[in-house]
Amino acid sequence: MKYLLLIAVVVGVLWLVRGRSSRVNPPASKPPQPAQAAKAVSPQAMVACAHCGLHLPRCEAVAGAQELYCSDAHRRARGDPP
Ligand SMILES: [Zn+2]
Repeated sequence: MKYLLLIAVVVGVLWLVRGRSSRVNPPASKPPQPAQAAKAVSPQAMVACAHCGLHLPRCEAVAGAQELYCSDAHRRARGDPP
């Protein structure tokens, strides 16, 4: 009977330690989130409009035959064919 109580105490202590360690683990798995956030704000190539000088991301620029522009209106204003 004495050993039964000792085993019950040991099992109880192990259960408490495991419960605490499983609560500590979730914050340890959080670091991947900042890495994903860094991907979302990855640097983009910026270009300047040849007509007005406005800086904009390369993917949003309107490409003419010679230069890049912020809009189709500025490309036409320069007489640059698409
Ligand atoms: Zn422009």
